[in-house]
Amino acid sequence: MNVLITGGAGFIGSNLCAFHLKRGDRVVAVDDLSTGRSQNIEALRGESNFRFIQADLLDWNELNNEVAKAERIYHLAAVVGMFRVLKEPVEVTSVNVCATERVLEAAVKGGHDPKVVIASSSSVYGHSNEQLKLHEDVDLVFSPERGGLTGYALSKLSNEIQARAYHEEYGLRVVIPRLFNSVGPNQSGNYGFVIPRFINQAIAGEPLTVFGDGTQIRSFCDVRDTIAALDTLAAIGDDYEEIRNAEVVNVGNDREISILDTAKMVIARSGSTSSIKFISYDEAYGEHFDHITQRRPVIEKLERLTGFVPRWSLEQTIDDLLQKKLNNTTY
Ligand code: UDP
Repeated sequence: MNVLITGGAGFIGSNLCAFHLKRGDRVVAVDDLSTGRSQNIEALRGESNFRFIQADLLDWNELNNEVAKAERIYHLAAVVGMFRVLKEPVEVTSVNVCATERVLEAAVKGGHDPKVVIASSSSVYGHSNEQLKLHEDVDLVFSPERGGLTGYALSKLSNEIQARAYHEEYGLRVVIPRLFNSVGPNQSGNYGFVIPRFINQAIAGEPLTVFGDGTQIRSFCDVRDTIAALDTLAAIGDDYEEIRNAEVVNVGNDREISILDTAKMVIARSGSTSSIKFISYDEAYGEHFDHITQRRPVIEKLERLTGFVPRWSLEQTIDDLLQKKLNNTTY
């Protein structure tokens, strides 16, 4: 199968490249290396079935050609990471919305009736998290007054709506996963992402920086479980009404853990002498940041459609990341 992955040098993208190459697929990865890193795909560069193109989706001349060859497309390229999202609000809308439009437009013209996976995000739940049960069909609540995350959330909601529009008007086959917190190899702590930051801090013997009081809850899914879910979702056919109708599907792990307990887990498993340092949200993200207190996916739909069972526990993921960090390996 010919696979095109936008954001292919990013965290999830690079893991997807490795996954499809291992399965014998031909993979083209495109990335502008703004958040993605060439070191993430370094180990794949020698593979004959792998091609990497450094390009910005907004002006990539070869987009139509490459899309036309693809049987499956994962569109992951986006401005991501809390620090970057807050610092570059214009990029958030231009890249996340316009690049998606270009990819969808090209896919409609493409020759292989490709299956297009458009990555959405749990951030679309916005402030609806008060409901705690994040089913795909809950009403979404946003307030522009409640901080910089709203732009990112709305850009991802736009991506869902764009994908649905191309599906309805042109019959494009789309899959729309709402990705919850993922963790695993190749995730950088430079733009936020808590676990790689904690791992680096623990290994360096520096204090682990817990933002707020650490009672906020997240559910972390190992990226290898995330990509297995994405692949299965993309592979299942139209027999399922949810797929036929291009419904959104939550993708994540529903085990909950507080950020303070996550910090303690990293310290314990690494045997580090690091302490924990609490940093206010204002200090971490700037004033008026409206943090999300709890974010756990309801994954009934994913389980029903794919038989999803996570293979990785958070403990195993953390051990694997510590090991890779100490050995300086990626995969
Ligand atoms: N966080 C933290 N310390 C850090 C980075 C992040 O305590 O050094 C917190 C952050 O405030 C959030 C959680 O960890 O509550 C997860 O952050 P991440 O950026 O990984 O993902 P988010 O769920 O915020 O999109």
